[in-house]
Amino acid sequence: MKLIDPIIQFHTEIQQIRRDIHAHPELCYEEHRTSEVVAKQLEAWGIPVVRGLGGTGVLGIIKHGSSERAIGLRADMDALPMQEINTFAHRSRHEGKMHACGHDGHTAMLLGAARYLSQQQDFDGTVYLIFQPAEEGGGGARAMINDGLFETYPMDAVFGMHNWPGAAFGTFGVTPGPMMASSNEFYVTVKGKGAHAAQPHKGIDPIMTAIQIAQSWQTIVSRNASPLESAVLSVTQIHSGSATNVIPDEATLVGTVRTFSNSLLDLIENRMRTIAEHTAAAFDAQVDFEFKRNYPPLINHAKETAFATEVMRSIVGAEHVDATVEPTMGAEDFAFMLQEKPGCYVFIGNGDGSHRDIGHGLGPCNLHNPSYDFNDDLLPLGATYWVRLVEAYLKKTA
Ligand SMILES: [Zn+2]
Ligand SMILES: [Zn+2]
Repeated sequence: MKLIDPIIQFHTEIQQIRRDIHAHPELCYEEHRTSEVVAKQLEAWGIPVVRGLGGTGVLGIIKHGSSERAIGLRADMDALPMQEINTFAHRSRHEGKMHACGHDGHTAMLLGAARYLSQQQDFDGTVYLIFQPAEEGGGGARAMINDGLFETYPMDAVFGMHNWPGAAFGTFGVTPGPMMASSNEFYVTVKGKGAHAAQPHKGIDPIMTAIQIAQSWQTIVSRNASPLESAVLSVTQIHSGSATNVIPDEATLVGTVRTFSNSLLDLIENRMRTIAEHTAAAFDAQVDFEFKRNYPPLINHAKETAFATEVMRSIVGAEHVDATVEPTMGAEDFAFMLQEKPGCYVFIGNGDGSHRDIGHGLGPCNLHNPSYDFNDDLLPLGATYWVRLVEAYLKKTA
């Protein structure tokens, strides 16, 4: 593994920052302390900073040479509303909040790269260090874009990185095209007519209608979607009723849809609406149909992916880069940035969990698990990747 020496030398300093952020997790758009830690640190290294982009987002700018070319590197800063069960020293100090997705580590890896790039500028152009808020459902990437990220600070490409538990330390995973799914929610209310349960003929039963709708929806992925495309349609909540002898007025169906393409998403949403409305009509009921599109599919651009893959190979060796990694049905709001700019998002192996300090919980070291912890060994590796990516992308021509 070809790590950059100075980055190894300040590893302890970056690890302390990572653990400090881990101990002070903040949720979507509340990352005031975290973004201040980031901004102050960048300023201490002489890097100009823009605060408050997209709410609590921070942008660091490192310009060198005369080239107009620019690259964006993105890290996320927010934590999750869940209780940490680890008891090691850097465990969460905030009840019910936890860095269980490793965004503390992503922030620290980018800070490590920033610290190096603030001293050694072996490139020609501009590096934008993008520290975004609210990745966990809040659309912080979109908020930064809407706040002028790409208009005010033009960049040629953007790159993102997420730790991946289960993949070995020292490995990377990436694939051109779709890598993470679109994430969408639906809220459907079936409106019937309440009645005494012993007199069903006097009412319109919303429960039976809701069941028919939920079952028929399961034909969409199996009968309407192409068998060569992947999609998930999960009904995750059915709510209705309050007594054994009352047919209720309403029933609600709630759940999620995941796809790797917008065209398949259009098809699923349309079919869901048609089935819901027509099934309800068949039973003399009515529906309120609400479909919310949260994050679009994350689609890596071929050219930038090939470029990033070469950089990863140069650091860990070709045999440790899976260039056709299996996509996941999870979602990621870096997808918004890849809709605006060419770029590439990669997984960096977080290991099997054996890196965790004494006092970690009994659970697995999976993302969003209360026993999770970011693997600090990744800090110099991730920072090295960012730096080598910058040096290759903004290569000096003279
Ligand atoms: Zn997450
Ligand atoms: Zn995450």
